[in-house]
Amino acid sequence: MAREKVALVGIGKIARDQHVPALAASPDWELAATVSRSGTVEGVEAFTDFAAMLAGRPDIRTVSLCLPPQPRYPYAEAAIRAGRHVMLEKPPGQTLAEVHALERLAAAFGVTLYATWHSRMAEAVAPAKAWLADKVVRKAHITWREDVRKWHPGQDWVFEPGGMGVFDPGINALSILTDILPEPVHVTGAELEFPENRDTPIAARISFSGGVTADFDWRQEGPQTWDIEIETGAGPCALRFGGNRFFIGDREVAGEATIMGEYPKLYARMAELVRAGASEVDLAPMVHVADALTLGRRVVTDPFHF
Ligand code: NAP
Repeated sequence: MAREKVALVGIGKIARDQHVPALAASPDWELAATVSRSGTVEGVEAFTDFAAMLAGRPDIRTVSLCLPPQPRYPYAEAAIRAGRHVMLEKPPGQTLAEVHALERLAAAFGVTLYATWHSRMAEAVAPAKAWLADKVVRKAHITWREDVRKWHPGQDWVFEPGGMGVFDPGINALSILTDILPEPVHVTGAELEFPENRDTPIAARISFSGGVTADFDWRQEGPQTWDIEIETGAGPCALRFGGNRFFIGDREVAGEATIMGEYPKLYARMAELVRAGASEVDLAPMVHVADALTLGRRVVTDPFHF
C-alpha cells in the first residue's frame, strides 16, 4: 500500500531526534513537507508558513505538530479546519480546555486527532500493565530526575507560562502511571520549587491517593533516573529506564535498554487511527499536572540559568 503523506511542523529537538528517523523507517508514512521558521530536513519540501503549506499541498492529509505546547493550539485548529488529521506531541496543549476544544473540532470536521504519549509506547509498559491488572497496588513511588540542560538546552519556553517546567518530563511518568495502574488515583497535595527568576517549577514532590508519591527534579546531573517502583499484594515490581525495563522483585522480565522504539509505535498507531476514522485523546496525565499546580505549595529556590 502507498505510504500516506505527512507534514512535520516545528523542526526542533524532538523532530530531529525522533520524528524524522521514525518517519524515514515507517512503512505507513512519507515525510512530504516540513513547516518551520528555521529548520529543514534534507530532500523534503520546506515551508516557513503553515497556511501556505495547507493551501499548497492538498495531497498532504496529515500533520504532526512537534512545536512546544504554547504556540501549538492555533496550528492544530487551522489544520483541523483545513480537513487535516492531526498528531500532537506531548503534552497535547497548554491547558485541558484547549485540548477539549480540539477534540470537539476534530469530531465536527470528521478528522483524526491523536494526543500522543510517547512513554506509553516504551518497551516494558504493556507487560507491566498486564502483570499489574489483577494485583492490589499498596503503594508506588515515581522518581523522575533528569538534567534540563541536557534535554532542553537553551529552551526558555519550558520555564515560561504554559511550558509546565519539570512537569514537561514528569508528565511522561504520569502517562505511564495512568496507563498501568489497575485503579485510578488522584493528586492530594504537592510541593513545587520555582526558581526565583522563572514562572514554572524546576522540582515537584507530589502525593496521590492510594499511597502513590512522585519526586520530579530537573537538576540531576550524571546518571538520569526514570523509575516507578510499586509494592503490590504479590510483592514488589519496578519499571525503570523510562518504562523500558520491567522487574518483578529483582528479576528483569521484559524490556530493552533503548528509547528508540517509542516513536515508530506512535506513527504506527496514528496510521491505525486514520484508517479506522477514529481519534485518541486521553487527558488523564494532564489532569494530574493541572491538579498538582492547583494544590501545590510554592517554594522559591535559586535562580536558574541555562
Ligand atoms: P524545541 O526544539 O524548542 O522546539 C521545536 C520547534 O518548534 C522549534 O525548532 C521551532 O521551530 C518551533 N517553535 C518554537 N517556538 C515557537 C513559536 N513560538 N512559534 C512557532 N514555532 C515555534 O522543542 P522540542 O524539545 O523539540 O519540544 C517540542 C515538543 O516535543 C514539546 O511539547 C516537548 O514536550 C516534546 N518532547 C520533547 C523532547 C525532548 O527531549 N526535547 C522529548 C519528547 C517530547 P522554528 O523556530 O524553526 O519554527
